[in-house]
Amino acid sequence: MPYLPEDLAATLAARTPTLWLNPRLEPAAALAALPVGEADVAAARERLERCAPLLARLFPELAASAGLIESPLLPVPALAEALCPQGRLLIKADHALPVAGSIKARGGIHEVLEFAETLALEQGWIAPDDDRTRLAEPAVRERFARYTVAVGSTGNLGLSIGIMAAALGFKAVVHMSADAKQWKKDRLRRRGVTVVEHKGQYGEAVAAGRAAADADPYAYFVDDEHSLPLLTGYAVAAGRLAAQLRDAAIAVDAEHPLFVYLPCGVGGAPAGIALGLKQAFGDAVNVFFAEPTASPCMLVQLASGGLEPLSVYDIGLDNVTEADGLAVGAASLLAAELMASLLAGVFTVPDEELFRDVYRLHKMEKLDIEPSAAAGFSGPRRLLDSDAGRAWLAARHLDAKLDQATHILWTTGGSFVPADEHARFQARGEALLAG
Ligand SMILES: *Cc1c(COP(=O)(O)O)cnc(C)c1O
Repeated sequence: MPYLPEDLAATLAARTPTLWLNPRLEPAAALAALPVGEADVAAARERLERCAPLLARLFPELAASAGLIESPLLPVPALAEALCPQGRLLIKADHALPVAGSIKARGGIHEVLEFAETLALEQGWIAPDDDRTRLAEPAVRERFARYTVAVGSTGNLGLSIGIMAAALGFKAVVHMSADAKQWKKDRLRRRGVTVVEHKGQYGEAVAAGRAAADADPYAYFVDDEHSLPLLTGYAVAAGRLAAQLRDAAIAVDAEHPLFVYLPCGVGGAPAGIALGLKQAFGDAVNVFFAEPTASPCMLVQLASGGLEPLSVYDIGLDNVTEADGLAVGAASLLAAELMASLLAGVFTVPDEELFRDVYRLHKMEKLDIEPSAAAGFSGPRRLLDSDAGRAWLAARHLDAKLDQATHILWTTGGSFVPADEHARFQARGEALLAG
């Protein structure tokens, strides 16, 4: 069995907040050796563009953006002053992504579109040059109704896949793990999606969904633990962020480093985005993942130094966290493979810190996010205020460039959370800050 250095395993098992710096980080030239490249991400971007008119027709909320599903890059001056007074700090507001209300929108919708397009083309229901709005015609919809799109999820991927599959007329089945929030199940059921509740954690929900779909020739399973169409769909975010930074006249280059902090569950979303960011910015971008202290699955996998699976259970953790979007015990090996040479590091965050930052953001910037989405907020603290972080910056000559640096906190979910849930998160954060 693969293993971790003993002191690291002990620190993680004790749930001590940690910054792990990747000893196998390589220059961005390592991109050339990876199994997913720029052409794969470009194909996903083109699919989303080709299908934008279809999306605008299916979802009225996308009319204003002509079917583009994108989030703003927001200045947060008060939070920046509190978290990271040196340099610039911004929020990439995926908590407000339309249609799905989380980072899962781009990847999940991309994968359902790929399945729908491929099926309709193979069966001759549309021609290759046809406008993709044809996929919403009653004749095609009726044929889609014969097929099931299934997924296993802790909640947000289920929302994204379920909403998109149902909108195209597929039967949609979402296998939810025990930590999935009730309101997410209710919201899906209202859309006609079948929700199967499992008593076990994320890995079991995925396995059950995979097994059910395997037994049905008319079922397509979105496999969060291995999916390339999810990952490339997520990666499309990077090029769009690059355009937003250009529009804001924010330089990213050797003299103006970019630091991006991404909450990580199974790893597909943050790995896709990290891959896209490395393709866009090369060595000028430093990407860190954030994981709950109870569920540091990517940290454990990457620190084991290889791709033999190692889970948080193997080191004595229970994967029980309020950060339901990140409650994953074993990382995607596809994501781990891609990140092994590109990821700067991973830090862990106790639940209490998530609630405090949810409350800070609400109070200072009037933005409401779910606890998972606040995991990245600990990034500047871990990097700039720890001996290990400062030594890492100095070794890369980044310490002298912090005045010209840009830090981006990626807020990954929350706009669909009911108001009373937000109020509970914020009350808990406020009490923790006072205590
Ligand atoms: C799913 C999710 C993530 C992480 O994505 P993975 O692909 O699971 O790593 C982060 N934040 C939220 C809110 C999520 O729902």
